[in-house]
Amino acid sequence: MRYSQYFIPTVKETPADAEVISHQLMLRAGMIRKVAAGVYNYLPLGLRSIRKVEQIVREEMNRAGAIELLMPMVTPAELWQESGRWEFYGKELLRFKDRKDGEFCLGPTHEEVITDIVRREIRSYRQLPINLYQIQTKFRDEIRPRFGLMRGREFIMKDAYSFDVDSSAADLSYDKMYQAYRRIFERCGLNFRAVEADTGSIGGSSSHEFMVLADSGEDAILSCSGCDYAANVEKAESRPFPEAKGELLPKEAVETPDRKTIEEVAAFLGIKPEQTVKALIVVADGEPVMALVRGDHDLNELKLKNFLGAAELEMADDEVYVKACGGPVGFAGPCGVTVRVIADQAIQGMCNFVVGGNAKDQHFRNANHRDFTVKAFADIRTVVAGDACPRCSGGKMEVWRGIEVGHVFKLGTKYSEKLKATYLDADGKEQVIFMGCYGIGVGRSVAACIEQNHDANGIIFPLPIAPFHCIVSALSVKEEPVVKASEDIYNRLAAAGVEVLLDDRDERPGFKFKDADLIGIPLRIVVGAKNLAEGKVELKHRKSGEVELLPIDEAVAKVQ
Ligand code: ATP
Ligand code: MG
Ligand code: MG
Ligand code: MG
Repeated sequence: MRYSQYFIPTVKETPADAEVISHQLMLRAGMIRKVAAGVYNYLPLGLRSIRKVEQIVREEMNRAGAIELLMPMVTPAELWQESGRWEFYGKELLRFKDRKDGEFCLGPTHEEVITDIVRREIRSYRQLPINLYQIQTKFRDEIRPRFGLMRGREFIMKDAYSFDVDSSAADLSYDKMYQAYRRIFERCGLNFRAVEADTGSIGGSSSHEFMVLADSGEDAILSCSGCDYAANVEKAESRPFPEAKGELLPKEAVETPDRKTIEEVAAFLGIKPEQTVKALIVVADGEPVMALVRGDHDLNELKLKNFLGAAELEMADDEVYVKACGGPVGFAGPCGVTVRVIADQAIQGMCNFVVGGNAKDQHFRNANHRDFTVKAFADIRTVVAGDACPRCSGGKMEVWRGIEVGHVFKLGTKYSEKLKATYLDADGKEQVIFMGCYGIGVGRSVAACIEQNHDANGIIFPLPIAPFHCIVSALSVKEEPVVKASEDIYNRLAAAGVEVLLDDRDERPGFKFKDADLIGIPLRIVVGAKNLAEGKVELKHRKSGEVELLPIDEAVAKVQ
């Protein structure tokens, strides 16, 4: 590829609206351009890296025995109604009608569609196990699209779905995917951890997230220095505050015309100042009946719905009220009422929590009923760095920020039961299929990689996902020998299968070097008149900064 005829619109200034480094660099390197909030053009350079990740994913999925297909992005409401998610999925599901008033949505994930395929085509245990995957554009109407490809609304995902005869066979499929994911992220050159995770809105019995370690990560994760235990903060084994256990909420805390700040409630519950409350969930008889959430946090509508089950939920942009379903059941008798506070260090200072007033009053008044105990305990989701590991003796917990690039779930029969995906066993008996689902954010993986690999001058792509392996910089396009030698090197590398970019632009060397550094090509061959007179060129390694002065043949051989 010749730079002069290619399309890499680089930008010198840091774009004002890009907060994280990967977003800034992807814009500056001409990899992406915004079309609308959370919706991006993938420019040629960005697309090349995305395709590299896709290819690694594809190879490893195929190697693990998964089979590629492609499902539509537009999916009919009927399938989602069958699974119950048409109601359950909140505003992240972008719904619309066609000209005949038929209801559709843009697929945010494809459990329903794939289960529909399988229930129609799979009849016998002989056809199982099967694992089907696609690499496809998803749409989620994220409440806060941000950080470029990291949290887009439209984004590319690899999603795979496994189908098995029973739970233990499904465990094997899950393990295969878990191993494939490890290989994928290793091959992408990412520094990551596989952590135990909540199953969230997708449901199921067990799940792991693959987290790329980066300070800009939206998730907090914990790992033990002494054993394999690693979990995201939501899943991390929680420790109730002993001092807050079994306390009775005082009248003032629950029955007040004044709105209380989150700090006041937190202080009452014994939450330490360094922990921040992001939600107050009232649990009656073990059932969550009400939640008050406010602020910039990752407790989205889906997670809450999942957590609260049937409770009625109202959600504004940054505020959620969940009202008790079927009246204040747990509040009417001598039963335990638990106030659960989820604390998360990560969102410190962002919450502005209120109690009292409006719809909430009623429940709190009831909670003040004489006959029952109100237990207050804080469900501490942050295990603090340096704490003892809950799993092994001697290990200490370490806290990291992470970017979720992949997620594997054991689904069990959640979807197959609802959509009636069954097979006939060896005795001719009808059985429900066991499922698993496995996602990878392709664009997010590229962004996460840049978060981990950059310096003040720009991106430092690891070779496997670099848009080009090598850039040949002709220092002056006005000097015939330089042009000739550059072309020659370029042709030889290209012929050897190296993905090479020839910087043949009529620009100053400094200008060319700046661009080459910014776009992060791992290897650079600099062809200048002075060295050329001795038959030599410079080979520069973007990552180490190391420069070697080599005879042309040697440089070409090294790059190949
Ligand atoms: P998050 O917690 O970041 O919202 P998620 O848990 O909702 O992600 P999954 O449903 O597990 O996402 O989807 C599988 C993968 O798709 C994620 O691990 C992530 O890599 C990617 N992904 C999810 N949402 C987005 C998004 N808005 N933009 C880019 N990639 C995304
Ligand atoms: Mg999400
Ligand atoms: Mg998640
Ligand atoms: Mg997830």
